[in-house]
Amino acid sequence: MSDFIVIGGGIAGVSAAARLARHGRVTVIEAEAALGYHSSGRSVSYSHFGIGDSTVRGLTAWSQPFFREQPEDFCETPLARIAPSLYFATEDTIPALETLNAQMTLFTDEIRRISPAEIEALCPVIRTGEGAAVTGILDPTALKLDGDALLQSYARAVRAAGGAILTGRRIAGIERRGELWHVRSHSGEDWSAPVLVNAAGAWADEIAVLAGVRPIGMFPKRRTIIVVDPPAETEVAGWPFVHAAASDFYMLPEAGQLLVSPVDEVDDNPCDAQPEEYDVALAAHQLEQYTTLSVSRIAHRWAGLRSFVADRVPTAGFDGEAPGFFWLVGQGGYGLQTAPAMAAIVENLVTGASWPDGLEALGVLPRQILPDRLFNGSAHRTAT
Ligand SMILES: Cc1cc2nc3c(=O)[nH]c(=O)nc-3n(C[C@H](O)[C@H](O)[C@H](O)COP(=O)(O)OP(=O)(O)OC[C@H]3O[C@@H](n4cnc5c(N)ncnc54)[C@H](O)[C@@H]3O)c2cc1C
Repeated sequence: MSDFIVIGGGIAGVSAAARLARHGRVTVIEAEAALGYHSSGRSVSYSHFGIGDSTVRGLTAWSQPFFREQPEDFCETPLARIAPSLYFATEDTIPALETLNAQMTLFTDEIRRISPAEIEALCPVIRTGEGAAVTGILDPTALKLDGDALLQSYARAVRAAGGAILTGRRIAGIERRGELWHVRSHSGEDWSAPVLVNAAGAWADEIAVLAGVRPIGMFPKRRTIIVVDPPAETEVAGWPFVHAAASDFYMLPEAGQLLVSPVDEVDDNPCDAQPEEYDVALAAHQLEQYTTLSVSRIAHRWAGLRSFVADRVPTAGFDGEAPGFFWLVGQGGYGLQTAPAMAAIVENLVTGASWPDGLEALGVLPRQILPDRLFNGSAHRTAT
């Protein structure tokens, strides 16, 4: 028997398990053969203030020191490096850029406005001038994360504390008997614990149904990435993460290539998400619209699910009706950059400790994170 069972071997489940492992025996159960096979392995692994609402920004701000300073012995390689984030606007999207600027400056005072000439200096392929980028803002504090190192380091911490991480086990049955949750895999193995953490990402509502618990209302949305080669002899490593204020394009360098997204959000079902031809073509089109690059070959492509609850705020807490059933869901497009904060929240809620220090000062309050708001309040099941 374990003290805690965590269903889901993505960043949410494994980071929470690492914190829970300080308090008892944890068993993480993952359906796929490897950790991070779904959303967590398909992220572009960035941490910035240009995404989400103020609660997400607060969780991001709380988490950034973890990445920058990384706990001793947590990971041998750097978890993050500074990689500035550049948001540009065309004439039409200046209001969107102004809004973003106002929201972001609440969390970092280092944001500065940049001219078209500076945009070109930072990323020479961005089209500037009439009909193209006319202004921008630069956040020099943003971080490129090593998503795989983060996930594997959390997994190592679980094992070092005596926890178990089991892959290739898909949970097919869940039952509450007495004080314990009993979970059973497809192949008939079973485990039990008084606390069951549902960190199954896009599948979280399916896990709830298996357990006889009211679903929370997950909305998986597919996002597509294409990888293209930069022009010969072009060194892209120093380019910033470039976003259009219109939220229809982003591009960032990785390992000498460029990752490009049309920032698509297509409704999908929990699945092994695959890129659709339309979204791949849209990514190439947006790249050619916003930059002087032309796409002759797409080196690689992938898609992943960003799964939200109704108000798009990551959610953690015990279910109000099912004792010991703990939700850890709705990390949307910010599950890596908010993982340290969310894992600390899980630890404190599960063990009955007080709200993690520093979160309230960043505007992150329990009522914004606890699942009750989705069952009782107006946010329930309203797709946004
Ligand atoms: C293209 C893209 C770019 C992104 N970029 C960023 C970024 O720059 N920064 C950032 O912070 N976030 C980013 N994200 C979002 C981030 O990837 C997610 O928020 C995060 O990975 C969610 O983690 P998770 O653990 O909840 O889900 P997942 O990683 O999907 O993990 C859930 C796991 O549960 C398992 N599971 C489901 N059902 C069962 C079952 N019955 N039995 C056992 N196991 C089960 C699944 O197999 C899966 O591995 C991006 C996402 C995408 C798709």
